[in-house]
Parts: sequence; structure tokens; C-alpha cells
Amino acid sequence: IKTIGVLTSGGDAPGMNAAIRAVVRTAIHNGINVKGIMRGYAGLLQEEIVDMESTSVSEIIHRGGTILYTARCQEFTTAEGQKKGAEICKKHGIDGVVVIGGDGSFKGAGKLSALGINTIGIPGTIDLDIACTDYTIGFDTAVNTAMDAIDKVRDTSTSHERCSIIEVMGRNAGYIALWCGFANGAEDVLLPERYDGNEQALIDRIIENRKRGKKHHIIINAEGIGHSVSMAKRIEAATGIETRATILGYMQRGGAPTCMDRVYASIMGAKAVELLLAGKSNRLVAYKNGEFVDFDIQEALAMKKDISEDQFRICKLLVR
Ligand code: ATP
Repeated sequence: IKTIGVLTSGGDAPGMNAAIRAVVRTAIHNGINVKGIMRGYAGLLQEEIVDMESTSVSEIIHRGGTILYTARCQEFTTAEGQKKGAEICKKHGIDGVVVIGGDGSFKGAGKLSALGINTIGIPGTIDLDIACTDYTIGFDTAVNTAMDAIDKVRDTSTSHERCSIIEVMGRNAGYIALWCGFANGAEDVLLPERYDGNEQALIDRIIENRKRGKKHHIIINAEGIGHSVSMAKRIEAATGIETRATILGYMQRGGAPTCMDRVYASIMGAKAVELLLAGKSNRLVAYKNGEFVDFDIQEALAMKKDISEDQFRICKLLVR
């Protein structure tokens, strides 16, 4: 390996910059050249490739977003697009690539690997929905951002004695919602993995809690369920209690990464380069059972992950 490329792909996540920095500096430390591939696979196909020095990644560890930008690229999902991508890598002397992104990005990484470009993936998504790993870059920052925002909504919800539905991100996964359920002491947490659509049960609990003297009722609703605004209207109509929906949205994807995201992303970035140096390809860096490990990409993509039943049970029992 003489030259590696690094790209970020799919949705951005706070901490991606720390991973990029670690990739660049670990490579340079080992005498390897690094090229930044802008805008994910889209930038690869457009040959948006820039040389990176140690100083190219100065002043970024504390910044959200990704200095390499990110994009989705339909062309790269085709065999021709992938072949073109591998040829562009070869043309630029890139014999190893680090892909920071989610499952879709890893499928692309697997394809590049099959075409002779040694490729390693790093899990970067706020959703925590990558099965082989207990940690993904950005989740910790996103869940802290959501927690802070929900605390604020809770204050005004109490003052006005309202019911508040707060919708958090997570795509089809309920990890952000579950963690906020714990951290914000929400009265209800609706997870796509568990919600049975029984709105009447929700309404009954709101009425019951109000009778017991609760001044607010916070419902954390996951993006995968959605429809928070219409849900709020129906709840208000059924309970007579003023109900508002707040959709936190993209604020959860931004902001300065937390300490955990900076540290774990840095370690994963360095590990990815070390795997390339060891001649490995088609692997994903993961954090599992307290250790940084790596998995075959196809095996990792075939793994399944679910919300912990035990954690969900405890989250609910703590609300009184
Ligand atoms: P997020 O968690 O933010 O969704 P992701 O990596 O899963 O991240 P996707 O949009 O699914 O996001 O994928 C990112 C890019 O990876 C796609 O735009 C496409 O270029 C590439 N990609 C996705 N699926 C494949 C595939 N099957 N084969 C090759 N490339 C793929």
C-alpha cells in the first residue's frame, strides 16, 4: 500500500472529521500518501480527489459535519459505476480506500474491494443501526443534542401543562428514542421496533397521568413511526389536553462532537489504516463487547440487531 483514499458517504455524523483526521495522520505516520475523495462515491466518479497533508486535518477534530462533504450516488450502485470507480482509484494510484458511512456505503466498499481496491469501512451514522457494532460515529453527539432539546421542551411543556410529542431521528431504528426515553424521563417512548399503533392506550395513559397530577406528558416518538403532528391533533381531540408536536430534525446531525465521538472515531480511523497496512480488505471496523474489532463486510451486512428488550422494559418501568 502506497496511497490510500478516504471518503465520507451517506448521511453525515458528528465525529466523522475526527475519523478523517485519524486516517490521514496514521497513514502519514506510516509513510503512506493520503488523498481525500470529496462527496463520497459521487466525488470519486467525478475525480474530485485532493492530496491531504497532516495540516489538511488541523482544526477539525471539534467540528461537526465532514470536511470531505458527503453525497449519495446512484451511478455507483451499478456495475459500470463501480468499475469506473475502481479504475479512477488506480489512475490516481489509490490502492486502499477508507469508507466512512452506513450500510449502503459498505455495500459500495465491498464492491470496490471485489474490484481489487483494498477497502475498509468505518461505521458513521447517528442512527446506531449497524448490526455488527455497539458504537457508530455520531450517535453519542446526536443523542446528547436530542436530550438537551427535549429538556427544554419539557420546561415549557410543564409551564403550560401540555402534552408534548417530540420526534427524534434514527431512520427505522429506535436507539435515539430509547436513550432519550431514559435520559429525559419521558412518559412514553414509541420505538419503530416495538410500537403496535395502539393510540388508545397512549390516550388512556395521558388521561390517567393527568388525574394523578402530572403537569406534562412527554412522548418521545421515533422518526420510523413519524406522523407526530397528526398524532398530536388526535391526542388533543381525545384528551382535551393541549398537545404539541416538535420535530427535532437536522439539528441532531450537527454540532461539535462529544468526547466519546472524538475518541472512538479517532481510534476507528487509526484501526482502519492499520488493517490496510496489514494487507486486509473488505473489512469493517467495529466496537463490540468493549473492544475494537473488525468484521468481513458481507458477514457484517448479514447480521441483525434489535433494541434490547431488557433496556426497553427498564426504560418504561422508571416512568411513574
Ligand atoms: P446512512 O446511514 O446515512 O443512510 P448509508 O451509507 O447507508 O448511510 P446510503 O444512501 O444507503 O447511505 O448509501 C450511500 C451510498 O453508497 C449510495 O449513494 C451509493 O452510492 C452507495 N451504495 C449504496 N448501496 C450500494 C450498493 N448496493 N452497491 C454499491 N454502492 C452502494
